[in-house]
Amino acid sequence: MEKQLLEIGSESFKKIALNEDAKSYVLSNPLLFNILKKAANRYLGGETLSEAVDAIRLLNEEGFTVTTDYMGESIRNAQKANEATQEFIAFAQAILQYGLNSSISLDLSHIGMLVSKELVLENLQKICIEAQKSNQEVIISMEGVERTDLVLDIYQEALNNCPNLGITIQAYLYRTREDFQRLIKLPGSIRLVKGAFEVPTALAMPRGEKLDDTYLQYTEALLSKNHPCSIASHHEKIHQATTQLINQYQPTNYVLERLYGIRNEELKSYKDQGYYCRIYVVYGKEWFLYLCNRWAEYPLNLFQGIADILK
Ligand SMILES: Cc1cc2nc3c(=O)[nH]c(=O)nc-3n(C[C@H](O)[C@H](O)[C@H](O)COP(=O)(O)OP(=O)(O)OC[C@H]3O[C@@H](n4cnc5c(N)ncnc54)[C@H](O)[C@@H]3O)c2cc1C
Repeated sequence: MEKQLLEIGSESFKKIALNEDAKSYVLSNPLLFNILKKAANRYLGGETLSEAVDAIRLLNEEGFTVTTDYMGESIRNAQKANEATQEFIAFAQAILQYGLNSSISLDLSHIGMLVSKELVLENLQKICIEAQKSNQEVIISMEGVERTDLVLDIYQEALNNCPNLGITIQAYLYRTREDFQRLIKLPGSIRLVKGAFEVPTALAMPRGEKLDDTYLQYTEALLSKNHPCSIASHHEKIHQATTQLINQYQPTNYVLERLYGIRNEELKSYKDQGYYCRIYVVYGKEWFLYLCNRWAEYPLNLFQGIADILK
């Protein structure tokens, strides 16, 4: 019963997150905007680049490596995709200027993937060149399953000109077994996640033991080969098991990664034990979708949201 309720909660938030009417209702209502923003703040590095720089500096001072994403996705207009690209370039310049220890994470659909392949490749290359000046990586996030082929295709093509490029893969997709065999032969780093999007049951495993075992099989394959990777999860069981694999294989090219504001105290304890840990910071104004996604993946976070609003 409890599990069922959480699943209903999760599905509802996923639907709300993707509903354009819900988003514009909240964004055009100042009262709702201000209230929900209070709940979103715990997951945000800020709304502007300079606020993000301050948040990253603090995390770097605490000893965390960071990756940073200027929030946004599903842009269908070349001008907006180019504006987002300019923001990522400005962020890459800030990394160099302020000596930040941060890579860049992004959705390809934020920088032109839904406009044309040529545009997204051009924009991605510009961002990679700028990030390369501070020896930083650009990591592509993975989107809904209807976009997987396109994202992987662009990643593989871009890798020819952008050696500092990495990719995210979703353990819950059955297709990942084949994709993984191909991707691990490429030099780019791999971020492993369980997968966040609603997917037809024929294409993906539900949350549970089988998915956890599959996730850990990929983890072991990455760590045992010392392939550059991020083991990105908020699941204590996953990170616990990962530390045992790290102790066994002694890799040097991995990070344990979590989103900013989610179970970062546990990540700190791994860091204090000497494991490499990274925090994924997001900034920008597109926080509504992001907040709904955080509530969807763990609906009990809604109570945390209420507490933040009432503070
Ligand atoms: C750095 C990073 C990058 C990501 N990038 C992508 C991406 O590009 N594409 C994509 O599809 N997904 C991405 N995700 C999301 C990912 O796919 C999962 O949906 C998300 O991490 C939840 O799965 P899980 O492994 O953390 O645990 P789950 O199996 O979902 O949950 C297991 C347990 O983990 C804890 N937990 C999980 N989520 C939370 C939370 N929000 N708050 C508090 N506790 C929680 C709870 O104890 C829960 O019972 C990313 C996640 C991270 C950490």
